[in-house]
Amino acid sequence: MKFGCHLSIRNGYLGAARQALSMKMDAFQYFPKNPRSLKTKLFNREDAALCKHFCKAHGLSSIGHSPYPTSLTPHDIVRRKQVIASLLNDLAITDACGSIGIVVHFGKETSRGNPLASYQLMIDVLNEVLEEWDGNAKILLENRAGLPGTIGTTLEELVQVRKLCDFPEKIGFCLDTCHAFASGLWNGDNWGEVLKRGRELAYFDELQVVHLNNSKYSTRQGKDRHAPVFGPGFITEGQFDALMQTPECKDIPFILETPKEIIPHEKEIAMLQKKMELAARFCRGMKIIRISMRILKCLEKMCFN
Ligand SMILES: [Zn+2]
Repeated sequence: MKFGCHLSIRNGYLGAARQALSMKMDAFQYFPKNPRSLKTKLFNREDAALCKHFCKAHGLSSIGHSPYPTSLTPHDIVRRKQVIASLLNDLAITDACGSIGIVVHFGKETSRGNPLASYQLMIDVLNEVLEEWDGNAKILLENRAGLPGTIGTTLEELVQVRKLCDFPEKIGFCLDTCHAFASGLWNGDNWGEVLKRGRELAYFDELQVVHLNNSKYSTRQGKDRHAPVFGPGFITEGQFDALMQTPECKDIPFILETPKEIIPHEKEIAMLQKKMELAARFCRGMKIIRISMRILKCLEKMCFN
């Protein structure tokens, strides 16, 4: 299992990768450029190439996160052009860094009278970006934290938007656990149902990253307020365990976007790694017990027959 957190590129892309390794993480997330602006960046290609090489050598996975003003449902043509240029720039940077892709939030509702307009706009914007893009980095669509019923909160919408794009192979998914909890997609106790539905929709085939966040508010309140996994939050450890034991999530990065002031990320990741190690040891122990029981039964049969 791969755990990591969001890191700064203050010391460059390679600097972020080095920091991830020094913090004993297996993955990290970063903003490829200024998180508060859509302005494109003339990035340092050498630094990005060194990051890619370093990550490959040390088995690190990385993911980019698009700047905050990125919207797949831009309100006017000027903003639409800025978003498209910014996303192509994000894809170029993340690709050069050897990252899986760039996380982008699902769009927002643009018209109350015509709910389909928002989905159509999103698909158009995605098509315009992806038509220009032929690298390996993907757009990673993230579920929203809105109230139940608002757009971008269900697996069906994510899967359908991907399917309706002209280039679905260039799109993957990012599951944010706080957003899923806030919207009621995952109420903490229904992981079995989410898993079943996700499998039916082939959502998990395209899931590339999990944002592992607890929630400061109870489920179905639509509040996007992250809390530490092991700290004060409404998602319990047992509920997280059920999610983390999902076989489809075994090899994908789990990125913390939790407030580090309460529990430092390094500590939280060490706790997660320890937890998974103990779970793996328990499974191995159970396997040995089962094999031993089978051998004993065979011996019993041989002796008494
Ligand atoms: Zn997130």
